[in-house]
Amino acid sequence: MTPAHNHRLRRVAVLSVHTSPLAQPGTGDAGGMNVYVLQSALRLAERGVEVEIFTRATSSADAPVVEAAPGVLVRNVVAGPFEGLDKHDLPTQLCAFTAGVLREEAHHPPGYYDLVHSHYWLSGQVGWLARDRWGVPLVHTAHTLAAVKNAALAEGDTPEPAARQIGEQQVVAEADRLITNTADEAGKLVEVYGADPGRIDVVAPGADLSRYRPGDRAAARAEIGLDPDELIVTFVGRIQPLKAPDVLLRAAAELMARQPGLPVRVVVVGGPSGTGLDRPDSLIELAAALGIADRVTFLPPQPPDRLAQVYRASDLVAVPSYSESFGLVALEAQACGTPVVAADVGGLGVAVRGGETGLLVDGHRTDDWADALQALLNDRGRLAEMARRAPLHAANFSWEHTADGLLQSYRRAVAGYRPQADLAQRRGRGLWKLRRLGVRT
Ligand code: UDP
Repeated sequence: MTPAHNHRLRRVAVLSVHTSPLAQPGTGDAGGMNVYVLQSALRLAERGVEVEIFTRATSSADAPVVEAAPGVLVRNVVAGPFEGLDKHDLPTQLCAFTAGVLREEAHHPPGYYDLVHSHYWLSGQVGWLARDRWGVPLVHTAHTLAAVKNAALAEGDTPEPAARQIGEQQVVAEADRLITNTADEAGKLVEVYGADPGRIDVVAPGADLSRYRPGDRAAARAEIGLDPDELIVTFVGRIQPLKAPDVLLRAAAELMARQPGLPVRVVVVGGPSGTGLDRPDSLIELAAALGIADRVTFLPPQPPDRLAQVYRASDLVAVPSYSESFGLVALEAQACGTPVVAADVGGLGVAVRGGETGLLVDGHRTDDWADALQALLNDRGRLAEMARRAPLHAANFSWEHTADGLLQSYRRAVAGYRPQADLAQRRGRGLWKLRRLGVRT
């Protein structure tokens, strides 16, 4: 009997086609998913499950295989050009990527991987073929969904193509289990993509609580080079329309106009990504046009320990995104004892306890955001109370919890896996859902 039938989990193949867990998050396509893939792999390895992460090689300097930690290998699969391949062209390289994954497995004895876990729909496309070839279950995490993203587009943002939603739909139909960050996201999978609720597991992501913890604000400001007396509101993330750093700049400008004496500074941490308002230049230009250029500090993407100091140095962290499947930045900031003002979208309503560890703002109107900033920055007592509560709330979200949730889902997937019986049923599900999307089958 294969290990899968013994319900044992020795080794998991994790697929992360378009973002390497070894890349610096906060720029390009690297963000929360990279952090998720790496942190959950480290915790699974600590629990005795080996993890091999397959990702697309993006540099000729990438070694074919890198040991990220004991029990965690990153396999850099050559599929297409190393550099300059646009994210939207990645589907053209899925065949090459899949070939690389299957060839690697062929070097090993049968039953080498007990399960495939794919992240994002592109990996799901590879995952279902690997699952069929290897006779093991496929667990899939979408991270973001085209239908959800397109329903809340920022001005000037490009909608996700229909092909992506079709691809997502196929993966939802094929996967043995689906993992979502929140119950809300699970609801979307059921309502919009017709997923079977019995196959969904809600597993919250986490923060590295040993790294992101409260610390001395004055020391952090000195280290980052920030004024000890200013009121600092920070944005952390990829500079793209979806993340809406422009909403924060406009609100800060409005607040500065309302209260010229209030010593507010905005710190923007992150690099460019996507299209439209994506170049940091455009944000720099916006700050100048708003007349607040001297009150905004731009920092390039920061490594985690330094980022923790940025959070500690801040009075508030703002997460104004139009859509956010969870929002790791919000968790990390709170873990460092910094309250968060966040848009009330997606997982941010779970990541932040509105009124207790920060504020949740409905919509993206400048006035509403200026009101939220003004209310907190003028009430030191309330801010201090939120700062006290923030790490207590964040302590509910650790990568250890996440790994435990993943393991439970993996075990369910292995226990319920019936390779032959499932195939016909799966095909039926897939065709039915494609027809719902208007695709002729
Ligand atoms: N990040 C980082 N350095 C930066 C900016 C971001 O390490 O300069 C990390 C941050 O710690 C977080 C992740 O990138 O873990 C962003 O995740 P989030 O869920 O907030 O956004 P996403 O990128 O998934 O849209």
